[in-house]
Amino acid sequence: SIAPTALLPVVGAHARVPLVDGGETRYTNLDYAASAPALAAVAGHVGEVLAHYASVHRGAGYLSRVCTALYEDARAAVSAFVGARPDDVVVFTRNTTDAFGLLASAAPVEAVLLDIEHHANLLPWQRRGDRVVTAEPTIAATLEALEAELIRRPAALVTVTGASNVTGERLPLDVLAALAHRHGARLAVDGAQLAPHRPIDLAATGVDYLAFSGHKLYAPYGAGVLVGRRDWLDAAEPYLAGGGAVREVTVERTAWAPAPARHEAGTPNVVGVAALARACRELAALAPGALEAHERHLRDRLVDGLADLCIAPLRIWSDSVDAVGLVAFTVAGVPAGKVAAYLSAEHGIGVRDGRFCAHPLLDRLGVPAAVRVSFGVGSTTEDVDRLLSALSSLSEQGPRWGYADDGAGWAP
Ligand code: PMP
Repeated sequence: SIAPTALLPVVGAHARVPLVDGGETRYTNLDYAASAPALAAVAGHVGEVLAHYASVHRGAGYLSRVCTALYEDARAAVSAFVGARPDDVVVFTRNTTDAFGLLASAAPVEAVLLDIEHHANLLPWQRRGDRVVTAEPTIAATLEALEAELIRRPAALVTVTGASNVTGERLPLDVLAALAHRHGARLAVDGAQLAPHRPIDLAATGVDYLAFSGHKLYAPYGAGVLVGRRDWLDAAEPYLAGGGAVREVTVERTAWAPAPARHEAGTPNVVGVAALARACRELAALAPGALEAHERHLRDRLVDGLADLCIAPLRIWSDSVDAVGLVAFTVAGVPAGKVAAYLSAEHGIGVRDGRFCAHPLLDRLGVPAAVRVSFGVGSTTEDVDRLLSALSSLSEQGPRWGYADDGAGWAP
């Protein structure tokens, strides 16, 4: 077997948590898709950055120049990580949500999206009045539906998720990019759940824009990325008006700087960006295929174990062949919130439950809420086995305690 141990060390892997019966146990983190633990190398790097902390972009001192170089060098790390074209621009944002807010404010054209999207890639477009296409039961039919919509009424941007945050299923990005380009449209991809799990190559696949979040990529909260074609970002009104985004200001008017500075007004998150860049470099340094193999092994073990318990993962498409390290399901007769509370209170296992900021998709799948298990480079077969054994006890004996409906508390 190839995944008995973690692929890369993460911090907090040995954290201990209290149990409802008064005991304690090792925390089993199966909630990477919400926020992944930091890589040990990233945490070390953050310490080094903080130790050399100085003003960025404006200071003349030596450490200011080091700090500025670190920030600008992070763009190179991100570009390399996603295979950006030489003329693509890397804008640092707060997270994926912020990146799509920026793209939706900058895109001068009509967009088309799917109804499977996380709210981050749904609400900014919905607010603009853009069109939402209903995903079909197969990927092939979904691509046909998208194409039919582009023929019915042209749009110049297609924006879709690279991997579903509810099912982990992936769309073929090269096929999608070719489809969009055939109809004169660009392709934007929500990489929040893809970037931590699979290599992405913008140049090779033809993806025009990509967004992702550092906190799902083994770096701390607060830094994300929008990378892609420069022209829209150079032409758009600055996302946020303020210092750093300008070339020249008089009392009457402002000459804005080109991207990326144009959309990065205010003092940037140097620590977060440096951490994100370090995470990109650590993942890129893994042996080709190692990450995918590690996760595939864990996912297969999990899905097989769930099948033994008669639990089927949620799926959008019957013909999808690949999914990242993330599985959502429901347990017959036990509400999702109760399952999650039970796993935490009785076994120290952290998962997510609810509707995962994808309400339209959950509605269409016909589940009011689900349990989501997600993992990554720090996960082990033991983590998966602990979950399966806890679920097996749940189906045999039911929860031994009552839990508040919101899963927040427990009581005998
Ligand atoms: N897109 C997807 C697919 C996600 O899973 C998430 C996070 N749940 C987001 C976007 C939003 O990411 P963030 O909260 O970091 O902006």
